Amino acid sequence: MTKIADVVICGAGIAGVATAYHLAVRHGVKDILLVDERPALSLTSDKSTEAYRNWWPGPGDAMVSMMNRSIDLLEGFAHESGNIFHLNRRGYLYVTLTAEGIQDLEAFAVEASTLGAGPLRIHNSKTGGEVYQPSPAVGFEGLPGGADFIHDKQLIWEHFPYLSTEVLAVLHVRRAGWLSAQQLGAYLLEQARKYGVELVEDRVLRVQVKGGKVKNVELASGPVVSTPVFVNAAGPFLSQVGEFIDVDIPVYNELHMKAAFDDHRGVISRDAPMVISADEETLEWTEVERELISEDEDSHWLTSRLPSGAHFRPEGGPDAQTLLTLWDVQEKAVEPVVPPQLDPMYPEIALRGLCKMVPDLKEYLKRLPKAYLDGGYYTRTRENRPLACPLPLEGAFVIGAMAGYGIMASAALGELVAKHITTDELPDYASTFDLQRYSDPEYQLLLDNWGSTWQL
Ligand SMILES: Cc1cc2nc3c(=O)[nH]c(=O)nc-3n(C[C@H](O)[C@H](O)[C@H](O)COP(=O)(O)OP(=O)(O)OC[C@H]3O[C@@H](n4cnc5c(N)ncnc54)[C@H](O)[C@@H]3O)c2cc1C
Repeated sequence: MTKIADVVICGAGIAGVATAYHLAVRHGVKDILLVDERPALSLTSDKSTEAYRNWWPGPGDAMVSMMNRSIDLLEGFAHESGNIFHLNRRGYLYVTLTAEGIQDLEAFAVEASTLGAGPLRIHNSKTGGEVYQPSPAVGFEGLPGGADFIHDKQLIWEHFPYLSTEVLAVLHVRRAGWLSAQQLGAYLLEQARKYGVELVEDRVLRVQVKGGKVKNVELASGPVVSTPVFVNAAGPFLSQVGEFIDVDIPVYNELHMKAAFDDHRGVISRDAPMVISADEETLEWTEVERELISEDEDSHWLTSRLPSGAHFRPEGGPDAQTLLTLWDVQEKAVEPVVPPQLDPMYPEIALRGLCKMVPDLKEYLKRLPKAYLDGGYYTRTRENRPLACPLPLEGAFVIGAMAGYGIMASAALGELVAKHITTDELPDYASTFDLQRYSDPEYQLLLDNWGSTWQL
């Protein structure tokens, strides 16, 4: 059985769906086949914290520019759909309890602002500064961009009363917030289908190459699809699908989890932003606990100094109680398996990681609340920058390696791949997300000194 398609996309996660949307709706490409062996948007794209931000570090301004473009697109989708996917703009709040942390936060803030993420407003008890404008719980319009660096305990306490009185400073990043990833994906998919995109539930088995070009895509249920263009949007299986065309995709996978529990004590205000600890920390244990943990081979690391980045956000409306909690303490490369093996200790570890920043959460440690745990893979390149580009085989393209930022980035990266495919004019940031960057000796030098700060 042979079918014909102008484009075959392998993977209907947010990357594949966004690519299909841009090709069909914005570029008028016909006969697009979107193939996924699972229901659309059900693998990694169903597990995220659904948050977005334009506040990114360098080197260079490509990440900030790409995210600004992606958020422009998201805001456009929100306008045209009546905000069907509940885009908000509550912001990200980075929190520090240490003098050292203040310096680091300020340096990060200045860097991102300089790279184009927006103006930085300083609120200091001594100098006063501009009036701080809080974020509303819903909506995304008419709000300041950039970020507010608040170095004034009274102001912090007024707006974020759940934070510890030991907090010294916070950075409130304003072009940031969250949305419903499922509803965003469903909206883009619906639009794409209106423009003729066909979604099929099947497994891509092989890609046949002829004369140095993509020729056919073989599906597990039998059909062979004749096509000049194949897009690898296989998420955690990017490398395996790359092997179908003998192209090495230099990515690896890390398992990341998140735990949701009911904040029935109402510790966190329901209108809180996404709150992130900027401090490394050592967890508090009783003498007995410490002794037991130290003796255990699998858990003794819990008594050592642990990385920054524990974070939470409320999920649901004002009457809901759900709190999402995350803390990536042990990042290591793993082979992706579906479903992933989740660590039952994770909810407690994530909760403990938040207690310095929000001491009232300690009450929950006395009797751990029932938590809903899920997770998926961060598929990432060495320097944690994505791939959205042609591959070294005529007609083959890739979009992925979006680690912990694929929901926020897929609008711009889907657009970028669609521009590559239709040979449209490329944005300035295109080369930063091209596989060819690894062939540049200067880039290799840069990679040797790459920092990894401020990424969730
Ligand atoms: C715990 C966690 C929190 C996160 N938080 C955020 C966040 O706050 N903000 C954010 O922007 N991002 C976040 N992310 C990241 C985001 O979820 C991912 O970057 C994004 O979902 C990746 O999308 P994808 O389309 O590349 O992959 P996927 O959603 O995994 O889609 C890939 C698809 O390819 C299909 N596939 C693979 N191989 C084949 C084959 N041979 N044949 C057919 N189909 C195939 C799979 O079935 C799958 O459906 C988070 C991720 C995790 C795990």
